[in-house]
Amino acid sequence: MIALPEIRRHVTHAVRVGRVVIGGGAPVVVQSMTDTDTRDVEATVRQIRELAAAGSEIVRITVPDLEAARAVPKIRERLLQLGEEVPLVGDFHYNGDRLLAEVPELAPALDKLRVNPGNVGFGGKRDLRFERVIEAAIRHDRPVRIGVNWGSLDQDLAAKLMDENARRSEPWPADAVLREALVRSALESARRAEEVGLAADRIVISAKVSRVPHLIAVYRELARRSRYALHLGLTEAGMGIAGVVASAAALSILLFEGIGDTIRVSLTPRPGQPRTGEVRVCREVLQALGIRRFSPSVSACPGCGRTTSSYFRELAAEIEGWLDARMKEWRVRYPGVEDLQVAVMGCIVNGPGESRHAHVGISLPGSGEQPAAPVFVEGRKVATLRGPDLAERFKRIVEDYVESRFGGTRAAE
Ligand code: SF4
Repeated sequence: MIALPEIRRHVTHAVRVGRVVIGGGAPVVVQSMTDTDTRDVEATVRQIRELAAAGSEIVRITVPDLEAARAVPKIRERLLQLGEEVPLVGDFHYNGDRLLAEVPELAPALDKLRVNPGNVGFGGKRDLRFERVIEAAIRHDRPVRIGVNWGSLDQDLAAKLMDENARRSEPWPADAVLREALVRSALESARRAEEVGLAADRIVISAKVSRVPHLIAVYRELARRSRYALHLGLTEAGMGIAGVVASAAALSILLFEGIGDTIRVSLTPRPGQPRTGEVRVCREVLQALGIRRFSPSVSACPGCGRTTSSYFRELAAEIEGWLDARMKEWRVRYPGVEDLQVAVMGCIVNGPGESRHAHVGISLPGSGEQPAAPVFVEGRKVATLRGPDLAERFKRIVEDYVESRFGGTRAAE
């Protein structure tokens, strides 16, 4: 027997963020960040709801100034009026201590605070400001993500480690020193937060870089040296396919090693593209790895010279879109329906075989084959479809299958 590789989760503290738990073996949480002006309450509320509807289980908003800080309680109130309870994270840089002090309703309106220790000031002031953010979190019983970033690394710490390195008999490469600085900045800041009084199970850490091999090295080290819950993500992943692939590559390797309790994909949407794309990528990564399931999967062959018409591609896209649309209702009516596997294949070469492996599969006729499409349900051929209503009849077969396989709970009600 060839066994499937097992994912052994790195053991971390469980951190409660509103209604969601990060770490401690809880399912890996999907999160995202708005790109609206936080001062624009309506636009921000709209985007938070879009992200939540797309599957973001936590949404982060930036809080850059006093006006934005005053808008946050209004955003929370409006969301509650609309019945939206997705946990909100406030992202603070430079002035978080001041904003949290000047707007007392700010921290209670948030479920988690994010602070970047590299961006809280200089010298002694940095420590003081960092501590004030932590004290505000303790006062309001809010967890904190200590999020360090390659682009805003604590320069004093980096310089100190560079000096230490210069004294080594065999100095490390500069990149390795910077990776160490990133890890130390995250861990030392987290320990400082604990000294101030924040419990370890109220701390999440992240150390984001923009290159995949560096990210993997940094997170392996964070996991080796601590039990803090880990927020995983490649920063500045970029646009389009390149950003998706880089994020998927980095996240997959670490998640498969059991590292990472919550993930975010930092994609730059192309003009006109929705912000929700980053949520979709997170979910697809988790689903592809078999870590979580969110929606039915459609196996479609890539097509080749045997699928000369566009019919095959159109049908695969139609079925996928239809499954997506049906999921809204199915999710409520049929618990477990996200496990459904559907195959839409292009010809006889792999079509019947692959279709038999899915719950429901159809093998379309390739060029030169009889214009008939056998349909398989749980490996058994149940029909051969022909003609212009082929797609509709296939959907009916899928619908009936879903009802019979996942409708048990409803039938018993
Ligand atoms: S199943 Fe047929 S059409 Fe699809 S890739 Fe294989 S040979 Fe080509």
